[in-house]
Amino acid sequence: MKRGLYVGRFQPFHNGHKAVIDGLCEEVDELIIGIGSAQMSHDLRHPFTAGERVLMIRRALSDAKIPLYIIPLEDIKRNALWVSHVRSMVPPFDAVYTSNPLVIRLFEEAGIPVESPPMYQRESLSGTAIRQKMLDGGDWKKYIPKAAAEVIESVGGVERLCDIAKTDE
Ligand code: NAD
Repeated sequence: MKRGLYVGRFQPFHNGHKAVIDGLCEEVDELIIGIGSAQMSHDLRHPFTAGERVLMIRRALSDAKIPLYIIPLEDIKRNALWVSHVRSMVPPFDAVYTSNPLVIRLFEEAGIPVESPPMYQRESLSGTAIRQKMLDGGDWKKYIPKAAAEVIESVGGVERLCDIAKTDE
């Protein structure tokens, strides 16, 4: 029985994340999806709450063939203790899947096997590029699973992002 951990901020959950998870579902028996920076919302890099991200992910993966555990993880101020913090919050796991250099480094230092899944269309499939499309009135929906886009629309996510990008000048 192999249980994997995939960590991300998912601001928002997009087709690159979905493609990675579809691949992992073929590789592991159970998958934990850790939603990082869970305490963050309503700012330009983190527009969506942890709960909204749980919904995006759960609905986009409703046909997953393996058990998924979707667990919000608040950041802590000490990187050196973060792996212990994560381990205290999620079920035991055998391997971590990430391409984030800091996350790789921290888990490797803790002696936990790390694998980096392939990147899919990194230029368009990035949270930064998709949030910018939302701000510019571009077609952001084609980069996001339909069910996740519906969650964003249901919470007025684009309007929220545009509002918090304004100034009072
Ligand atoms: P992210 O949502 O940007 O990315 C999640 C994963 O998807 C990453 O592995 C990324 O490389 C991958 N990815 C992105 N685009 C892709 C694409 N097009 N195709 C395939 N894969 C793609 O999230 P992140 O920034 O990696 O999340 C790390 C989280 O860990 C953050 O919330 C961070 O705050 C947290 N963290 C916290 C601490 C602490 O609290 N001290 C320390 C380290 C990390």
